[in-house]
Parts: sequence; structure tokens; C-alpha cells
Amino acid sequence: MPPENPFTKGNNYDHAPYSDLDKPLPTEGHFYELHPFKSDYELVTRYTDLTGFDLLETPSEHQSSRQLSLQAERIRRTWGLEATADNTIGRDVDDQELITRLDRSIGIILGLACGDALGRPVEFMSSSEIEAEHGTVTKFFGDGSHNQPAGTVTDDTNLALYLVANLLAHGEFNAARYAEQLVEWFESDPFDVGVTTISSITWLQNGVPASEAGHKTLESRGANNAAGNGSVMRCAPLAIAYPDDQQMLQEMSRKSSEITHADPRCTHGCAVLNLTLAAILNGSEEPLQVALTALSDDAPAELVERLERVPDEVSEDDLENSGFVLDTLETALYYGLTADSAEDAIVSAVNNGGDADTIGAVAGTIVGARFGAGWRLYRVDHKPDSTFPARWLNDLRMDIDSYEDYIIPDLLEAGQLTERGIKTGSKIARQSRKLARNSGRA
Ligand SMILES: [Mg+2]
Repeated sequence: MPPENPFTKGNNYDHAPYSDLDKPLPTEGHFYELHPFKSDYELVTRYTDLTGFDLLETPSEHQSSRQLSLQAERIRRTWGLEATADNTIGRDVDDQELITRLDRSIGIILGLACGDALGRPVEFMSSSEIEAEHGTVTKFFGDGSHNQPAGTVTDDTNLALYLVANLLAHGEFNAARYAEQLVEWFESDPFDVGVTTISSITWLQNGVPASEAGHKTLESRGANNAAGNGSVMRCAPLAIAYPDDQQMLQEMSRKSSEITHADPRCTHGCAVLNLTLAAILNGSEEPLQVALTALSDDAPAELVERLERVPDEVSEDDLENSGFVLDTLETALYYGLTADSAEDAIVSAVNNGGDADTIGAVAGTIVGARFGAGWRLYRVDHKPDSTFPARWLNDLRMDIDSYEDYIIPDLLEAGQLTERGIKTGSKIARQSRKLARNSGRA
């Protein structure tokens, strides 16, 4: 039986999130008093003090994190609009400040999917073959490699979504369960699976535990044949769940990688990507440097030396496009960190050819984090100022209900749930089941 296509069309971006929250907020007061703030809770309570306007019936830190994040987002949007309208906040607001962690987190997932879908039909082609056959690829198109409809995402996005489901179901990363999810996914006969992943999943099917399967593959295939980008491509949701704990984020990144890819360039490669994304979520302007500084001492020198050169000591002409994890990371980080727009980064990464879907997807996570999804200024009278072109978003074959105002906020909370002593809520379990259903698991 052919695999069930996990995604259906039907996103409608004329209806942006929060449409039920568009009653105007009071804008009097010295808004700079709201800044800086350490948490959404602090922002909302300070705003309440400043304006005397109650945003939450009972603002309690644990009671409704969703309410808090939505209301904080609303304050920031109002703040931004006021800043551009009549300067009432009394200082210039850098556009970057208005991009919230929520918006950046949504951007990570959307960027990953957009890069994957744009690159899918030209995967395996060289840049000159792409140029000769298609000119510059800027639109999703059908057929091509893997012979799928336009906008179809591949293993990169699907396995990242399984990771999202894993985090939501358990409130933390559960490696044993993720290994089972990989097996379930593989048994649904997906059209795009990497060779290293196949090998490790076969070990898992034979009863080898999650912590050993990737090592068995590394042993049997050898270091030259087991250091692909198959774990880096799917690992970004961990950065959304653990943005504030570099140690935990690294540990979980390595753990998620070694299920299939145990080569240290892969395990620590996932850590570098996720530390970079987390640094962007936290507003760093030098995110790769932050990541390399935080990287554990036993990370391979080859990885560190290669990525230390990005972007300044790397020439665009020298960028490689293979599925080797260091080639993929270098190229994706180069475009992701240097491009002036999300679209430019993804288009450049994809048209560089080779493992185009994965390099596009990884570059997409970085620009998604840098620029956010772009919905921060949306109100009834403002069209969404989307980071990703509408021609992509409208054709993306990824339809997860309410991911922008439900799943991603939950994911932002997921890594902190256990820490805060809150058991996995039924709300999260419910959404997780829905997500798993939509991503093709029976
Ligand atoms: Mg792929």
C-alpha cells in the first residue's frame, strides 16, 4: 500500500492567528517601562500595572501559559504599531525586537518545510543541471525527483514533525519512543529515506535499543559512510523546546542523533545547529559563535574548525552540496546566517543543488528563526507581513491544525514542563495525537 500522504492542502493565510483577540488595547503610558522583561508573565503583569487594563482573569504563572503567550504577543504587536504610528512609546523600536520567540519558533518549522518542499524536486541535481533545466528555482513544482505533487515535503519535515509530536506527548524528548516512531514511519513506506537511516532503523527493528542502533550502523558502515545529514535535518524542534538550557539542548540533540547517526560529527553537528537556533531565539547577533563556544569540549575538531570559518572565511563558490553532515551544515549555515531574507537563503541553498531539500530545510530553520514567521504585526486592518512568500505557504502540503497558535506554543513549553513539575496535560496529549494522525501515523 502506498504511504498515506501525511499532509493535505488547505492552509488559508487570509485568516491569521489571534483574530479573536483583536479588540484594541490601551496604549497610554510609558511603554519603555515594559522593557526589558524576562518572561511573558512579567510583560503581561507589568502592562496590566501600567494601563490598569486586565488582560488575564487570574494571571498566574502556571495557570495558562497559552493565554500568557497570546496576550504578550498582543502587547508587542500593539506596541509595534504604536511605534510606527505616532511614536508614543518614546523610543525607536528595532524591528528585530518585535519578533517574538513564538514567531521565531513558528518560523523554524515553516522555514524547514519551505526549504524541503522547494528542494525536493531538484534533489540530486547539480547546480548547473538545475540552471539548464529550470533556470533559478523559486517556486514549488511537481514531479521531478521523487515524482510528487508541488509543495510536497519529504523525510526532513516529516521526521521533524514526529519529533514535535514526541516532545508534546512526553513533555520532554523521549528517545525510546522516538526510535519506535522512526520504525513506524519507515514501515509506512515513505518515498525518501537516507541509507544511514535505513541501516539504523533495521537495527531497531531487530531489537537493538535506541542508544545503540546508530553505533551499530557506524560500526558496520564505517566513518566514511555514516556521517550524513539525516539527523541534522530533523533535529530543530529540540531548539524550540529547550532554548534556555544549553546543556540539556546539547544532550538531547546528541541523543536524538545517535538513534540513527552516531558519528560525533553528526551528534555534535545537531548540537551546533540547535545551539545556533536557540541563540537566535534568545536574540543573539552572533549565534554561531555562541553555539561553538557552548559546544562541549569533546566535539570533534573537524566540526569546529569547519564551522568556525562560517560565514566570513567562506567563499560562496566553495560551498559544497553533498549529504555529508559538515558540507550540509556549512552551506546551510552560510546561507541561513548571511542572506538578507528568508526567501533568498532558501532559494540560494536549493539552487546550489545536490542534497537540495535537506540543505534548503536546514537553511530554512535558521532564517525562520532569524526573521520569524512574520505575523507579528498582524491585526484586522493589517495583512500578515509574512516572511515566507505566499506562493510557498499557500502551496505547502503541510496542514497541521493550529500549529501557529497551538502546537508551537505547546512546544515552547514542553521542555519546561517536567522541570516545573507539571504533568503532561490532556491538552498536550490531545494535540499530540492529532499531530501524529496528521503526519501519517495510524
Ligand atoms: Mg529529504
